[in-house]
Amino acid sequence: MNTIEQFADTVIKESYDLKASDIHIVPRHHDAMIQMRIDRDLVTKHIITRAFSEKLISHFKFLASMDIGEKRKPQNGALEIQAEYAHLHLRLSTLPTMNNESLVIRIHFQTMVQPLSQLALFPSSAKALLSFLHHSHGLIIFTGPTGSGKTTTMYSLLHAAQHELNRRIVTLEDPVEKRSDGMLQIQINERAGITYAAGLKAVLRHDPDIILVGEIRDEETAKVAVRASLTGHLVLTTLHTNDAKGAVLRLLDFHITHAEIEQSLLAVAAQRLVEIKCPFCQGKCSSLCKKMRKVRRLSVYELLYGGDLKQVILEARGKKGVYSYATLKQVMNKGYALGYIEEEDVQR
Ligand SMILES: [Zn+2]
Repeated sequence: MNTIEQFADTVIKESYDLKASDIHIVPRHHDAMIQMRIDRDLVTKHIITRAFSEKLISHFKFLASMDIGEKRKPQNGALEIQAEYAHLHLRLSTLPTMNNESLVIRIHFQTMVQPLSQLALFPSSAKALLSFLHHSHGLIIFTGPTGSGKTTTMYSLLHAAQHELNRRIVTLEDPVEKRSDGMLQIQINERAGITYAAGLKAVLRHDPDIILVGEIRDEETAKVAVRASLTGHLVLTTLHTNDAKGAVLRLLDFHITHAEIEQSLLAVAAQRLVEIKCPFCQGKCSSLCKKMRKVRRLSVYELLYGGDLKQVILEARGKKGVYSYATLKQVMNKGYALGYIEEEDVQR
């Protein structure tokens, strides 16, 4: 193994130990930086020479079957690493900059699926989410920005449904983020004609109990998903809205009728990840702290279901709705009041 290979392995291992989500190799005028995104912070870990950084980037590009000779166009690639400490899935993208090429590596750990009780800040939300799995059909929608943990939550639920309730599960995703044995996982491939809508129609003929639809992006997918949930399937999916109420309005935008929403929609969960206060220090954590702390972030949920959901749908019809579910803001305030999270996280 040469120096470049060794160094590349070290950087990957280091990012794993620190639970970094991305590695950035950023060329500068005289040298290059290796930075890691750890939680929200971008931390500079190494300064290397430009020549070394060019070799390092070429090495990663080679591993990811990218065109090493091409440095003037942006490129994407993917790479699986089966290290003894973990199974990693890396997505690489290069960008030509004023100072040569830069590379960003996004890291997906193929970690064990965590039970929901270990993901949620409040056990009551985990309990409520798990209870939805006992329905034989209906639509469960997760909302929240990218990186708010929706996929992790859905996989935790699917895992419980598979192992505790023995359900047959099919997923449609773009991309498939977590490999899971025993589930049929289908990658969306628009060029090959596997769109969400087309894929979902095909999946329905495969007799699933539970279907995960990565995202509802268009009216057609919304309609097929609602139809699936009305015909004996439990459908888990995501929508891009800020809060739980927004999901009802978004379904209306996709021309799903009030009646269809009433019959199909079981629950909406708006989710955020919050940083948990460090038990070892006050304030800014050192790298050592970050290595020591197993749990750094947990999920909080705004859960809209049952009577409250009926009232929100009523309100969407232009009538007066009366509901009392805890909003994300209220749930986070509770976390702050109990001393789990920082005030700045509540404001965010
Ligand atoms: Zn700390």
